[in-house]
Amino acid sequence: MPTDLELARASCQLDIKSIHDLLLLPSRQLLRNKIRNILEKEPLWDLTTRPHLNQAQSLLRSLRLCHRLLQLRRLHNWSQEEYREAILLSDDSIPTTLHESAFISMIYSQGTDEQREKWLPRCQRLEFVGCYAQTELAHGSNVQGLMTTATYDYEDGRDEFIIDSGGIEGAKWWIGGAGVLANFALVQAILKVPRRDGGLESLGPHLFLVPIRSLTKHLPLPGVTVGDIGPKAYGGFACMDNAYIKFDNVRVPRANMLMRFAGLARGGEYTKAKHDKISYASMVTLRAGMPENMGWLLGKAVTTAIRYCVVRRQFTSPGEQGGREIQVIHYASVKHRVFPLLAQSYAFILCGREFWNQYIQMQEALVSHGDTSMLPEIHSLSSSLKVATTNDAVKGMEVARRAMGGHGFSWMSGVGIWWANSTPGQTYEGDNYVIAQQTARGLLKHLQRLHTAKATGKEYELPASSGYLKLVGVKPTPIATTHDKGDLKAARSLWLNPTILLSLLSSRAAYLLGQLALAISTFPQKPWTDHSFATFALCRAHAELYLASTFLSVSSSRPDIPPAVYTLALIYSLHTITSSLSDLLESETLTPHNARELRYVHGWMLMEGLSIGDVVGLTDAFGFRDWEVGVLGGKEGRVYERMWEEVQWREGKEGRGKREKIAEFEGGQGDAWERVREEARRVLGFWKEGEEGRNVGVRKREAKL
Ligand SMILES: Cc1cc2nc3c(=O)[nH]c(=O)nc-3n(C[C@H](O)[C@H](O)[C@H](O)COP(=O)(O)OP(=O)(O)OC[C@H]3O[C@@H](n4cnc5c(N)ncnc54)[C@H](O)[C@@H]3O)c2cc1C
Repeated sequence: MPTDLELARASCQLDIKSIHDLLLLPSRQLLRNKIRNILEKEPLWDLTTRPHLNQAQSLLRSLRLCHRLLQLRRLHNWSQEEYREAILLSDDSIPTTLHESAFISMIYSQGTDEQREKWLPRCQRLEFVGCYAQTELAHGSNVQGLMTTATYDYEDGRDEFIIDSGGIEGAKWWIGGAGVLANFALVQAILKVPRRDGGLESLGPHLFLVPIRSLTKHLPLPGVTVGDIGPKAYGGFACMDNAYIKFDNVRVPRANMLMRFAGLARGGEYTKAKHDKISYASMVTLRAGMPENMGWLLGKAVTTAIRYCVVRRQFTSPGEQGGREIQVIHYASVKHRVFPLLAQSYAFILCGREFWNQYIQMQEALVSHGDTSMLPEIHSLSSSLKVATTNDAVKGMEVARRAMGGHGFSWMSGVGIWWANSTPGQTYEGDNYVIAQQTARGLLKHLQRLHTAKATGKEYELPASSGYLKLVGVKPTPIATTHDKGDLKAARSLWLNPTILLSLLSSRAAYLLGQLALAISTFPQKPWTDHSFATFALCRAHAELYLASTFLSVSSSRPDIPPAVYTLALIYSLHTITSSLSDLLESETLTPHNARELRYVHGWMLMEGLSIGDVVGLTDAFGFRDWEVGVLGGKEGRVYERMWEEVQWREGKEGRGKREKIAEFEGGQGDAWERVREEARRVLGFWKEGEEGRNVGVRKREAKL
């Protein structure tokens, strides 16, 4: 007998394939499916084992994943792209994630051609495994205030930097991948160069490649104190060995400073980077991929919630004694919470990919011919999108969890671990409240230039995302309600007009920017820090306008895209607007009557805009396989059978072989952390497996480091 979920799916009218092609380009689908087919046969990728493990066991599992990924890469001759996809599909950051996403990518973007040539091949085969070490025990956001120094020493023919933490407050902290695994750190340190008068000139933060563990025994090198910082909030990030690292006068050659843009010649002559934002380029790299990733993660949570709510039934309709209970997905309170999340996940994936393409263009221009012209806009937009998408995805996962009632709180919803692993995304790669200020500063600068140009009769070209700055200070034209009050059809045609929706989001962003500029000019004595809450709201408004306009335009860009995707873009826009009505009423962009109508239209879209079958189809279009979503979110909809099976193993019953899988991480010889370190050594030694002949060369190279 078909399940409720299968019945709902059968009523779906959508061309799922074309929506799937929109979310995931066909070339990427081929790649993803090829890797999935391999991973889903691997016992380590049974994600239902994960919630039963403690921190050391999780790390052991995570290192085994790293090792197995390397074996699979060799076995199947994976390209770098395929290997990255496999890491992504592993659903956890793993101890090599920052090696791939930060260490390698920064050597590539900030290293000279010689540095790339020297380091990258050894990094790519994981002979060198690195981490990104910026944050310190006493400093994170304030990079200029870092205590770690790199002092140039050219006395007696030396040509080296001395890396020093300057005390425990300057010890690096939170450093992902270095707790047990990394043998190198890319260290942000304040460059200090001796000057003729005997003093030291401080030249601000720069990046230095510093060996932290020996390449043979994998033990900390002299002057380096390194280890894991322990369990994290909500059990999140247990898959990652976040580290402390203290440097006591560690010497590295001058060639270990990344010098593509700023450089230090032998003898101490310093060349400044052409653009003062060049050091931000590395942060942009880390942030640029976050919006799309957040979309896929939220997509998993919302797929699980929607599928479960189609299966779950509570209460019969009044007067229907004895009839079947109602599927909870039909309740307005469920639709109002869950459907906007579906719209958000589509928005983050589609707009995140558009933004990623812009980022790649900027990166190519920067690396190939030092062109920094796109950097300020990409920097500002990446910060605002990171703020909005991490904030909303994390919030959305909790909303999805609650929409699943009691079972939402079980590990079987999957949401617990996604949420715990995603919530620090609001803090790392720049605390959201701190980086929101960077976007706000950028917008204020454009506003200033726009006003100056206007006063002198000149044109000022605004970046594409900031056209609304022309509206700052312009009194909004009230939106005429041409129809009779209560004419709901006319209300719908008015408030579902994309031009009107975007004009509202533009007015909101312009109003918030205008208010910030006014507050700054009215109270010039107030410090900037007093505005750091207002900047957060502005940053979100800026990002949400970009997300709504990009989503509306992408979803209507081709005739083959089913209209349901455009409906989601309208829901995204209406949800964003109705969540910020206070700004629109305060700025008198809307009247209370407009606001009431907007709420009505938003509610109408959620209740009537999409059938349940189509909503199920829209979750199928993500293309998740059962092992990637929660137990409650399986495609067949046999939720209770699967849940029952999952709990049997504790009482000695078979339960999908879970007992054996979990036992692999329990007990065993020696202490748990020693097993973790042993596994880390296996990962690091992997590149030598089957290549014994090369060890002689390795030892020689190591002697030179
Ligand atoms: C899971 C995880 C992984 C991490 N991985 C790494 C890593 O691999 N490498 C690495 O170098 N770092 C890493 N970090 C560190 C992370 O980048 C920093 O924690 C982050 O940048 C925030 O800095 P902070 O901790 O100094 O916070 P603080 O700046 O101390 O923030 C404390 C509070 O003060 C507020 N605040 C601070 N300054 C301002 C201001 N100017 N205006 C308004 N409010 C302000 C913040 O909003 C926050 O509420 C990681 C962190 C986590 C949680």
